Amino acid sequence: MSGTGPAGVPIPQRCAHLPTDSRGYPIIATVGRDEDTIDFGTVSEYRKLVLATFDLCGVCGLPFGEELRWQVGFRPEALEATGGIEAAEAPVHEICALYSAQVCPFVSSPYARLGDEYRKGARRPEQVILAGSTRTEQLCVRPSPWQPGTKILTFRMADLTRSHVLHDAEQARAAYTEALADDTPLALDTQQEQLTALLCPLTQEENGGLLAGAAWCVGAAFCPDLGAVLGMDVFARDSRYRQVAEQTVLDAGFADAYAGTKRDASLQAGLRWLSTRTELPELLKHWRRSARGRLVRTARKDNGPSQEQRRKSARRKQKAARRRNR
Ligand SMILES: [Zn+2]
Repeated sequence: MSGTGPAGVPIPQRCAHLPTDSRGYPIIATVGRDEDTIDFGTVSEYRKLVLATFDLCGVCGLPFGEELRWQVGFRPEALEATGGIEAAEAPVHEICALYSAQVCPFVSSPYARLGDEYRKGARRPEQVILAGSTRTEQLCVRPSPWQPGTKILTFRMADLTRSHVLHDAEQARAAYTEALADDTPLALDTQQEQLTALLCPLTQEENGGLLAGAAWCVGAAFCPDLGAVLGMDVFARDSRYRQVAEQTVLDAGFADAYAGTKRDASLQAGLRWLSTRTELPELLKHWRRSARGRLVRTARKDNGPSQEQRRKSARRKQKAARRRNR
């Protein structure tokens, strides 16, 4: 642990870098902000995209690595869902979920939060459910339940492995105390540190827009229907984001070389992160792999038959001619 936050609750080491508001509440990575305004009630679609692309926790903004990805909800049926949990919020580390349940005004007062029937205060939930899945299987584009006519991102989780069902504050405290006993700081490489340093502070950058642009460039541009999501049309309309993404897929050295020519710190950090990964997060790997297939097929069509194909065709013609001459 690393000091104490609101109401004397100890802060996990991995949340120590988060800025706090005037009451001492940590400003989690998914919440939209600028230098003067923090709105705990809104999550930023830009930030959700950044978290999904670089595979970061929605609370501390640090990588998941091999840890489970947790969603916080209020309906026990979610634990029975055979198709996996789908949520409008980015997944978080276990200790970050348990910490939020202690201090975040929107988790510890669940009826003030989330987009289900509880949001309107229709019914007070009896418990907080924390569900830990192995993988984030898909980033989906769905109609917003709160703003008709707009679309938002949702996270589809797969391979539910563990859960916490917290009936009251006492249980929440006990589960958090247990998690704190195993609390260790995460070891980050330089590129991961840079992304966190850009994502988490209070800056003038509006809602993570620059980092969202970087996410498009490293491969989110290939996420189906992404341009339809609230605010993402800016990137969809400007073909340069997609072009950069295509170049990074076709040319392994492009990301690092291009980063060197740019002054945008977020784009630089994103491209350098991409060029130094030995293994990409599952979502990004999937987007880039399907794009590569399309790009290679298009390149083949544009260039006509390859030399190899032409040689094969010539050999077939020669064989047919020899058979005719026998
Ligand atoms: Zn976290």
